[in-house]
Amino acid sequence: MNREGRPTGAGETQAPRSRTFTGNKALQIEEPLIFERADYGHGGVDLPEPEGLSTNLAGLEQESAPDLPGLSEPEIMRHYVRLSQKNFSIDGGFYPLGSCTMKHNPRLNEKMARLPGFADIHPLQPQSTVQGALELQHEISGWLCNITGMSAVTLAPRAGAHGELAGMMAIRAALEARGDARSVVLTPESSHGTNPATASLVGYKVKAIPARADGTVSVEAVREHLGPDVAGIMITNPNTCGLFERDFAAISAAVHEAGGFVYGDGANLNALMGRADVAALGVDAMHINLHKTFSTPHGGGGPGAGPVVFSKALAPFAPLPLLREKYGVFSLIENPDEAENASPFGRMAAFQGQMGVFVRALSYMLSHGGNGLARSTDDAVLNANYIRARLADVMSLPFGNQSCMHEVLFDDAFLKDTGVTTLDFAKAMIDEGFHPMTVYFPLVVHGAMLIEPTESESKETLDQFIETMRALVKAARSGETGRFTNAPVFAPRRRLDETRAARQPVLVYEGKI
Ligand SMILES: *Cc1c(COP(=O)(O)O)cnc(C)c1O
Repeated sequence: MNREGRPTGAGETQAPRSRTFTGNKALQIEEPLIFERADYGHGGVDLPEPEGLSTNLAGLEQESAPDLPGLSEPEIMRHYVRLSQKNFSIDGGFYPLGSCTMKHNPRLNEKMARLPGFADIHPLQPQSTVQGALELQHEISGWLCNITGMSAVTLAPRAGAHGELAGMMAIRAALEARGDARSVVLTPESSHGTNPATASLVGYKVKAIPARADGTVSVEAVREHLGPDVAGIMITNPNTCGLFERDFAAISAAVHEAGGFVYGDGANLNALMGRADVAALGVDAMHINLHKTFSTPHGGGGPGAGPVVFSKALAPFAPLPLLREKYGVFSLIENPDEAENASPFGRMAAFQGQMGVFVRALSYMLSHGGNGLARSTDDAVLNANYIRARLADVMSLPFGNQSCMHEVLFDDAFLKDTGVTTLDFAKAMIDEGFHPMTVYFPLVVHGAMLIEPTESESKETLDQFIETMRALVKAARSGETGRFTNAPVFAPRRRLDETRAARQPVLVYEGKI
């Protein structure tokens, strides 16, 4: 059954236009591509005829009007505003996407990032003219080292995965420097997918380590795989099941004893910040996603920043440039000798850092203060556990009802024999006004549903979400299968082909133009 009368998305059959003529639904307005809605016969602005200019263009006159869409200013504005409304956002509603930390981004940060002294500088300006920007970077570096207890930091990486690349290249450089190139990197199965991907990109063979029954990895399981060929381990903590790796310190000690390094995935520092001593866990390198924990609007590929903190052992292999302060003057040191830096791989990116994200992150740090950051960790963890505790009786927890960190993982056992899949359940949430949680990730549990509420949601929002989830579970269990398999019916598009845009990208518009 199709309850609306709108044009449908890719891979769907056209719905009968029984209810509306326009495809609009209530005040949700359909918006075609700009090429499709434009009038090509006229321009969007009326300019007066030029006066006193030579009309002799010596054969340069245009033979036909440019093939550009002609729209008036209000039409253009509505076009882009409507497109923006197609995109669900954290400013629009609850967005519990596990592992992504979709939390409120304070407007104060935006205001700071737009200060002309930060926003209008150019990466090729002489360093003497951007001392404030460098000082800000120096200050963030101090905060990151303090929060983690680590010795050094690079602000160069543009994202979490890029940080992993920097960290693993540093580990490879350190091993090669001691003439001990190794070939294997261990990753627990519950590590983030970028971990094995990074290790393999850097040229290592990846060995996956299975978790024990409680969802964490044991030091015994790691020991079994350790040997002279192991360059190190990459561990996500909390892991992608939202659980704290409680053997972490023991695992680090074992890996160090075997001559390897420990890469900690700290993308989700919002579960640890102010509460866990990363250095004491034995980490040698760890990236921190400023765009998650330290609040920058993110998603859809950017913007982001993934600074990496280093242990003393790995600090000499950090990428260039190095940010130094001497006699109150800040400088980016590019020359490895001057930097006393052994890194053979140089830079991670053409220019230093992602300035807009740094400004937002420092604004967030300063407005919270050290205690405030610890408090936001506590609240993030509390909120996830509140959801876990209130849904544990109707949904299913793959590793028992143990407390979680900043996110809670359910599997699809509670949907058994209902004919409803995790995907159907997620789509039905859209009809109820909630962005779905992360689904089918991590891969280690069947039909995963990973919920990360973050610290910025109120109890009222969480209660509303919980009641909706409980009602949906009840509906699924009582045979209302169609409500799920047909969902979403109220969204601008129904079920899009999940992979076609990536597999068959259409990069050229072949309509009117
Ligand atoms: C988000 C995330 C990453 C990747 O970060 P990007 O900025 O998207 O590259 C890596 N590990 C974990 C645990 C994450 O949550």
